[in-house]
Amino acid sequence: MDITQKVFEFADDIGPGKIVHLYEPRTQTKAIVVIDNIAAGPAIGGVRMAPDVTTTEVRRLARAMTFKNIMAGLPHGGGKAGIIADPKTVNKEQVIRTFARGIKNLTDYIPGPDMGTDETSMAYIYDETGRAVGLPRELGGIPLDEIGATAYGVAVCADIAHEFINLDLNGARLTIEGFGNVGKPAARFLSGRGTVLVAASDSKGTIYNSKGLDVEELIRVKDTTGSVTNYKDGEALESTDLLMISTDIFIPAARPDVINESNSDVLDAKLVIEGANIPISENAEKILHDRGILVVPDFVANAGGVITASVEYHGGTETQAFEKIKNTISRNTKEILEKVYSENTYPRDTGIGIARQRVLRAMKYREWM
Ligand code: NAD
Repeated sequence: MDITQKVFEFADDIGPGKIVHLYEPRTQTKAIVVIDNIAAGPAIGGVRMAPDVTTTEVRRLARAMTFKNIMAGLPHGGGKAGIIADPKTVNKEQVIRTFARGIKNLTDYIPGPDMGTDETSMAYIYDETGRAVGLPRELGGIPLDEIGATAYGVAVCADIAHEFINLDLNGARLTIEGFGNVGKPAARFLSGRGTVLVAASDSKGTIYNSKGLDVEELIRVKDTTGSVTNYKDGEALESTDLLMISTDIFIPAARPDVINESNSDVLDAKLVIEGANIPISENAEKILHDRGILVVPDFVANAGGVITASVEYHGGTETQAFEKIKNTISRNTKEILEKVYSENTYPRDTGIGIARQRVLRAMKYREWM
């Protein structure tokens, strides 16, 4: 199929408005930017750096941002970028600055951090373009990973969701896939509510102890040695083994599509809160729901980061960000789950139905749309 046909194959009544492929031959930097919809305002979305990031992945993530931002009531549309590079091996500053020069004129897109990029990366982008969120404190930013903004939202989501399935958070077993900027503080916030972290994984493996892992010690081990598998008081397994561990709450906080149709029968959990973006394929989410596992979708559950980014962009404080995360995520989770259980629908379908209507209404105010 011709590339043009392929690009427009998935366009619908919302977007995507722009798909830009960047290539800088001298450094061979390759990147993709998708601005999905800007009816509510300039698009905010993260810059992902990974060797295997694709246009399809960026497009799906950009749409998730459109829904996430409108659900959170932010004056921003949705977009996303992917830099095709391995953050561990490239000259990161050079690649990020090259990318930033390439997007300087894409003023409808405000970049934020995502997998493989961080506050320092955003500082370089801001230096080149004057636009970025998730900046270091020294530049007036609210460092959303340092404060655990997304993870806080995940915990707020659990506070509401557990009541719908009669799950006591106190003593509930917790497993976390991806012990990074979302996974680590999620473990911390949830252990504050009495959950017991029985397993956590990263790209190098899984650590498991049915009696519980010491969250603070595990964070220390991950930060100092690079992997959860170096934690002493637990069994080290493969990364993929995490999905087979019986749990009450499962938080995917790493890569897309870790649960798909081929392994959706494996997970033994009561509640899944999507810390990562698109961690479960849409069909697999439905299979899990039909198996009695409640899945709170990404664009509702992990909005804490972008809410903080938006508060920062509009000159607000950290305290205001936490308050907005709490109010927004509890209200949205409640609204969606009430509909799911009263109308017997799937959580994502319900959430998307609400979000889509809001985007279409925002588009009506825009003559050029
Ligand atoms: P991160 O890079 O800090 O952490 C990712 C973790 O996942 C790392 O520990 C890595 O080792 C691990 N990992 C990678 N591949 C894995 C695999 N195959 N199996 C198990 N673990 C694996 O990234 P992050 O900022 O925590 O983001 C994680 C996810 O959450 C992404 O999908 C991101 O888009 C999403 N998200 C992040 C934020 C945020 O505020 N950081 C906000 C919203 C959504």
